[in-house]
Amino acid sequence: MKEYDVIVVGTGTGGSTVAREMTNRGKKVLMLESGGRWEWMGNTMTVAMMLKHFGLVRSKEGRTVTFADNYGGLSNIAAGCAAPPPKAVFDPVGIDLTEEAKEAKKDLWIQKQPDELVGKANLRLLEVANSIGYHWGKMDKFIDPQRCNASGDCMLGCKTGAKWTARVYGDEAVSKGADLHLHTKITEVIVENGRVVGVKGTKLGRSVQYFGKAVVLSTGIDNAHILRRAGIARAGKGFCCDWLQFVGAEIPGMNTIGATPMSVGSLEFYESDGIAIVPVFPNWSMYAATLAFAGPKSLLKFPRFWKLSGIMVKVRDETAGELFEGVSFSKKVSKADQMKLDKGIDIIKKVFRKAGAKDSSILPLNPQGAHPSATCRIGDVVDINLETEIKNLYCCDASVLPSALGLPVIWTAVALGKRLGKHLAAGSADR
Ligand SMILES: Cc1cc2nc3c(=O)[nH]c(=O)nc-3n(C[C@H](O)[C@H](O)[C@H](O)COP(=O)(O)OP(=O)(O)OC[C@H]3O[C@@H](n4cnc5c(N)ncnc54)[C@H](O)[C@@H]3O)c2cc1C
Repeated sequence: MKEYDVIVVGTGTGGSTVAREMTNRGKKVLMLESGGRWEWMGNTMTVAMMLKHFGLVRSKEGRTVTFADNYGGLSNIAAGCAAPPPKAVFDPVGIDLTEEAKEAKKDLWIQKQPDELVGKANLRLLEVANSIGYHWGKMDKFIDPQRCNASGDCMLGCKTGAKWTARVYGDEAVSKGADLHLHTKITEVIVENGRVVGVKGTKLGRSVQYFGKAVVLSTGIDNAHILRRAGIARAGKGFCCDWLQFVGAEIPGMNTIGATPMSVGSLEFYESDGIAIVPVFPNWSMYAATLAFAGPKSLLKFPRFWKLSGIMVKVRDETAGELFEGVSFSKKVSKADQMKLDKGIDIIKKVFRKAGAKDSSILPLNPQGAHPSATCRIGDVVDINLETEIKNLYCCDASVLPSALGLPVIWTAVALGKRLGKHLAAGSADR
């Protein structure tokens, strides 16, 4: 039976980064991924096929939260917006990601986009916001401007390969010798004398097991379930998802359909209030699904879609709720969460009004979550090296965040993966 140096379970941002870092150091790496490799179709089908339950997973309280089920994870449908690891989240647990964030910035092609890719609609919103005293600017993006065709399709999967996704690192790891098994769902870790020695699961319905000196769980929501089965009961108790609300409005003479999402915006209220504000809106079918979840009457608002400009508020939510077996979970929008969302909505309304929208046209959609995270928190379920109480068993993805980020996650997840890569490389002689 082949023994790997490192088994990485899940090929999202965190997992692919560790796989690539360890392959680059000459280690024998195995990547295991529950989903397949769905390619771009440029429509909602692409998104649905990359997500658990086609993206229609809802909390017991009826809120939608998005979970990945494909090679590359959620990065495939990310908007391409980049924010560095925030000190507000990592200082309290004594982790400094400055070096790794610098390395990641180069790898991920992070830069601001030229005006022609940002687009007229976004630039108009930026100008309007600044004219009433806000401090909007261009956002950093992990998009190569040379390859971007300004389709605005980032969240439907990127056709041109201009957007960095975890597949870039995953493919690099494979090209340098890592093994990749798709359609392989891991359910348990194999532990002997307090040390992890492998993983178990199913590949296309057949039982499989693999052995390695270290195991890194990077499955997002499933990390908590796998750890609970291994006896770590507190995993999955409390989590974050960065509640967001899209707000649409009819501004005469413009709409944001097809505009590059999240290419301008403001983080000026992030440090003080945990709020980020950026222009982005769901495409027509996701808009329809969001209205349908709000009740059949809401669907009457559907025809307005083609007139709407959209801005989103995203917040650092409270750590609360619980994951249950499967993709079942409970997570409320707390009073404090809703106060932050409302503050953001007020700001957005001011921008829309100044741009010429009537109050009657302004439409905030219901809160939803796109960043499932903090289910295996640093300082609680994993230590600052991301190791669990089971020796050589690590977690590395958004699940380890000590609290809500309230910001784009990918730069942070890559920085964490690079840091874990260094730790594993330094300690590999002891295993
Ligand atoms: C619509 C949308 C837009 C976004 N836009 C941005 C953006 O612009 N910028 C940004 O930085 N972030 C953005 N995000 C967030 C970001 O994409 C994710 O937070 C980040 O990619 C999560 O990475 P991760 O490593 O935690 O793992 P995930 O992406 O959750 O990946 C987990 C992987 O594990 C696999 N898996 C799950 N269970 C198992 C199992 N049991 N066995 C084996 N494999 C398993 C999954 O298929 C998946 O590949 C966006 C998210 C969404 C939904």
